[in-house]
Amino acid sequence: MIHDVLIIGGGPAGLSAALALGRARRRILVVDGAPRRNAAATHVYNFLTRDGTPPAELRAIARAQLAAYPTVEVRDVAVAAIAGALGGFRATLADGGAVDARRILLATGMIDQPLPLPGFRELWGHAIVQCPYCHGYEARDRRWGYLVLPATAAHLVPFALQARAWTADVAVFTAGAVDVPAAAAAALAGAGIALYTAPITRLVARGDALAGVELADGTTIARDILFAHPPQRQVELVRALGVALDDDGYVKVEPLRPETSVPGVYAAGDLTTRGQAAILAAAAGMQAAAALNVSLALDPTAA
Ligand SMILES: Cc1cc2nc3c(=O)[nH]c(=O)nc-3n(C[C@H](O)[C@H](O)[C@H](O)COP(=O)(O)OP(=O)(O)OC[C@H]3O[C@@H](n4cnc5c(N)ncnc54)[C@H](O)[C@@H]3O)c2cc1C
Repeated sequence: MIHDVLIIGGGPAGLSAALALGRARRRILVVDGAPRRNAAATHVYNFLTRDGTPPAELRAIARAQLAAYPTVEVRDVAVAAIAGALGGFRATLADGGAVDARRILLATGMIDQPLPLPGFRELWGHAIVQCPYCHGYEARDRRWGYLVLPATAAHLVPFALQARAWTADVAVFTAGAVDVPAAAAAALAGAGIALYTAPITRLVARGDALAGVELADGTTIARDILFAHPPQRQVELVRALGVALDDDGYVKVEPLRPETSVPGVYAAGDLTTRGQAAILAAAAGMQAAAALNVSLALDPTAA
């Protein structure tokens, strides 16, 4: 049996694409087989009608609703490799099985790479997060820190200023790795935002919570939550496929027709953009589904 589309990744992007393609009566297989990106998070916020839902529950509801569509199947297994070309791909699964599909949708998310700072791994996902729209409200009026890294230095001032929507107590840490231009330092000072430029020796935890940021000069700055954008990388499968990436490492696609540089291989969700949120990934999945359905409709061999 050849599937119309093999969807790799059962997060918001992949499950949303499966729903739209199932409703278009396409034969779909969704495979999901590696840890979730937001595995450390206990709730997904800012998802219309599902605000505050645990991530596993969000996926379970999506799978339960997919069960109503007889042409959609979901399996918990990773894809190890992909061979073939447009119209005839073969995916090798981690359990040794194989799957044939006319098109592939990559919805594999991104992998966050922990910063080499003592305390970072333990606190990531609950006391260290990346998105104030996801987790800012729960930390309103608390003591916020923003750890700016060389790759995110351009966003320093906008990020720090927007943080004041949630709290008046914002501190920026450069960990000795970012030169802050005088104009940026003045903008922070004008907004009452403290700037700490010393290297960080560790992130001090109290149980699951962040107690403070310890600096190389011996001081500890008390903070309740730290925002940081650690570097991300694509999963091995995407790297092995050799699809074109942009300068920041995301898969290059046009939003309305998200086919990658490899014909027949589409991509949707976090792996294509810095703009990462569950509802954005779900929307991208739906858009990719429509493009895939049109592509199949125009393909005489897919009838
Ligand atoms: C700590 C944290 C908290 C967050 N909190 C929020 C929040 O509150 N609200 C919000 O909107 N967003 C939040 N996000 C962002 C949100 O989780 C992502 O934007 C969203 O999950 C992206 O969906 P996706 O489908 O693109 O990828 P993912 O959800 O990452 O799903 C990708 C799936 O692909 C699977 N996969 C990868 N490789 C393979 C393979 N080879 N074979 C089979 N399967 C594979 C993975 O196992 C994974 O299940 C948070 C992120 C993090 C890190």
